[in-house]
Amino acid sequence: MIIVLKPKATEKDIQRLCTRIKELGLSPHVSRGKERTVIPVIGDERKLENVALMSYPFVEKVMAVLAPFKLVSRESRPRTTVVRARGLVVGEKKIALIAGPCSVEGEAMIVRIAKAVKKAGATALRGGAFKPRTSPYSFQGLGEEGLRHLAAARQATGLAVVTEVLDTRDVELVARYADVLQVGARNMQNFELLKEVGMSRRPVLFKRGISANLKEYLQAAEYILSRGNDQVMLCERGVRSVEDYARNTFDLNAVPILKELTHLPIVTDPSQATGKYSWVEPMSLASVACGADALIIEVHDRPEAAKSDGEQSILPARFARLVRAVRRVARAVGRTA
Ligand code: PEP
Ligand code: MN
Repeated sequence: MIIVLKPKATEKDIQRLCTRIKELGLSPHVSRGKERTVIPVIGDERKLENVALMSYPFVEKVMAVLAPFKLVSRESRPRTTVVRARGLVVGEKKIALIAGPCSVEGEAMIVRIAKAVKKAGATALRGGAFKPRTSPYSFQGLGEEGLRHLAAARQATGLAVVTEVLDTRDVELVARYADVLQVGARNMQNFELLKEVGMSRRPVLFKRGISANLKEYLQAAEYILSRGNDQVMLCERGVRSVEDYARNTFDLNAVPILKELTHLPIVTDPSQATGKYSWVEPMSLASVACGADALIIEVHDRPEAAKSDGEQSILPARFARLVRAVRRVARAVGRTA
């Protein structure tokens, strides 16, 4: 932390501030210049987090040196964390493919699609039983019945199940059926939910909020790790921007940036990011090229009848083609899929 004082700061002000800093176990190193006094503070500056330094009328500026997150930072753990759930491995050389419908609509449907995506090369099945819909009148998911269908699909295929949990009250229930708990974009700053999944023993697929910057996103992820769960995958799924041809603006910058900032593996979701089936494959390939560790893709065998997100769901045959193309790009960037 570097504290810059205003020219009017008196010797008494400086002493007062230094005493406060020392009380917190930190050491101030006062540097008196011609125009300004600057105080670099040595020690864990997070101790100063709850001190409103800017409330001192003689303080002009406060500059943080450390990132506002700790456990998620690459600094704290140089090697990428590998997240494992059954056959799903995210964070190693092999790019993982998570695929399935937006929503679970019935047992036969999810078992059929699970078999199809497995055959094409997926290692995990996605499918929402609790759906966070923009409108309260849209399909809200089958709830526990949907979780049972997902368990049946896992039984039939051996695929790991990834499904969303919306509510702190459902974390235990969803964790009983799921291999991975998905926390959706709309809940990125639902800190109570983050604490709850942080206490669960299930890995978490944690999506970036619709309007969240990466600092806010990593601080939110810190909540999950701070409760003891480090099996967390981050997921870029597009953000709000000026552009509205696509459902969202796919922020692929986030992939290399997050890789520098955090040890957590990075997933991308080209389905929610683009909102259109024909844009999913090119943006999947772009994701692989820029370093994503996994893709999560919506696949439906009757997109026109899907209860949610049919317009961005691809057919199983198209998914099989996508997997082949992903393998080619993966090879070109020194990975496998
Ligand atoms: C989804 O995966 O279907 C979903 C609702 O995702 P997001 O939270 O990214 O909108
Ligand atoms: Mn969806």
